[in-house]
Amino acid sequence: MTGTWIEVDLDAVVENYHEIIKHLRPGARCMAVVKADAYGLGAVEVARALEQAGCEAFAVTKVDEGLILREHGIKGIILVLGPTTKAEWPEAIKAELHLTLSEVSWIKTLNEVSLELEQEGFPKVKVHLKLETGMGRTGFWPSELAELAEALACAPHIRVEGAYTHFARAAQKDKQFTSAQYERFQASLARLNTLGISSPWQHVCNSAAFLDYPEWHHDFVRIGTLLVGHYPGPGFSGKIKLRDPWAAKSKISQLRKVPKGTYVGYQSIYRTKSETQLAVIPVGYADGFGLVPHLVPQGGIDFLKIVLKNFAALFGISIGQERVELKGQSVRVAGKIGMQLTVLDIGMLNCSLGDEVRIPLRRTVANARIPRIYRHGEQILSKRVIKEGVLPAYTEYSSMTET
Ligand SMILES: *Cc1c(COP(=O)(O)O)cnc(C)c1O
Repeated sequence: MTGTWIEVDLDAVVENYHEIIKHLRPGARCMAVVKADAYGLGAVEVARALEQAGCEAFAVTKVDEGLILREHGIKGIILVLGPTTKAEWPEAIKAELHLTLSEVSWIKTLNEVSLELEQEGFPKVKVHLKLETGMGRTGFWPSELAELAEALACAPHIRVEGAYTHFARAAQKDKQFTSAQYERFQASLARLNTLGISSPWQHVCNSAAFLDYPEWHHDFVRIGTLLVGHYPGPGFSGKIKLRDPWAAKSKISQLRKVPKGTYVGYQSIYRTKSETQLAVIPVGYADGFGLVPHLVPQGGIDFLKIVLKNFAALFGISIGQERVELKGQSVRVAGKIGMQLTVLDIGMLNCSLGDEVRIPLRRTVANARIPRIYRHGEQILSKRVIKEGVLPAYTEYSSMTET
C-alpha cells in the first residue's frame, strides 16, 4: 500500500463476537450495531464476517446504511435505529428493514405505504417502538402512549416486532439513572399492554449495560463498542476479553535532516531543539487524525486537565501532543497536524522513505476514503477503496491477493 491505510483484522471482530455471545443470557441474541460504517471499520465487511459467524441481527442509524448491507448480501434482521422519512419507506420496506417507530404522526401514512406494498407481494412493515426513558432524544414519552396505541389500532398493516429504549449513562459509575430508565421502560411496556399493544421482542442493553446488567439482556443486546474492540468506559476494562481489530498506518513520504531551531508547521508553534530529522506522513485532520468527538469533562480533575492543556498551549508547550509509532518507538508529532500532511520529529532514528508508521487514528472519525484492508490473520481478504475526488463518491469492493 501507499500513503495511508487502515488494516482491519476481521478475525478479531469475530472473536469479540464469540466472547460476547458466551456472556449472553440464554435466549438472548447479539444485534451487531454497525452504524457509522461499523464505527469506521467498514459496515459491509464487518457484517459479512459476523453473519458468517452466526450473527442474526444488525442495527444501523439510517435507511441508506441498511440498504447498503442488503445490496451486499446481508440476510439477517436489519433494524434502522434513527428516525426515517416517508420518502425512504418504500425502499426500506422492500428491503425488509425493520424500522424504528418514534412518531405518532408517521403511523397513518406508514400504514398506507405498507398496504400498497403488501398488494405487490411484500411483507408487512415491521417496526420496533422506541420508548423515551431518559435519553431525551427519540422515542415515545409516557404521555404519548394512549395516542400511540389508538393510532396503531387503526394501522393493521404495521406489525410491531419489538420495543426498546437506549441508556444515557450506562457507562458511568452512578447506576441509579440507568435503573430509573429501565423502570420507566417496563412501566411504558405495561401501559401499552393494557392499551392492547404488545411486542414480541424487547431490547435495552448497549455495550455497557450488557456487561453490567445480565438480567436485562431480554431478546437482544445491541452491541457496537465491544465488537470493534473497545471497552465502553473506565471500569469496564478486562470484563470480557477483547481483541483490537484496528491498525491505521502511513508511510514516510519525505525525510530531511534539519538543524536546531527549525520551525515546523502552521503558526510555527514547534521549533526543533537540536539537530534532528523531520519525517512527513500523508495524513491529517481531514482524515480524522487528531480529532476527538464532543467531549464533556467528567468531573473536576478532568476539567483541570483540559484547562492546563490549553493554558500550556498558549505558551507553545504541547501536553499530550499526538504520538505515533515508528520502528517500535514512540515519536512525536511536530507542530500542528495539517489538513492532509503531518510532520514527525524522529530524532536520529535510522529510517528511510517508505517506512511504516502506526498512527492513533480514532476509528469513528477516520475518513471513509482511507482505504481499508481486511485481514484474516496474515492473509489479505479484500480491500475497500473509495476514489478520491470522484463525485458522487462510489465504492469499490474488490477481492485481492496482494498489498
Ligand atoms: C450506538 C447504539 C448502540 C450501541 O452502543 P455501544 O455502546 O456502542 O454498544 C445501541 N443502541 C442504540 C440505540 C445506539 O444508537
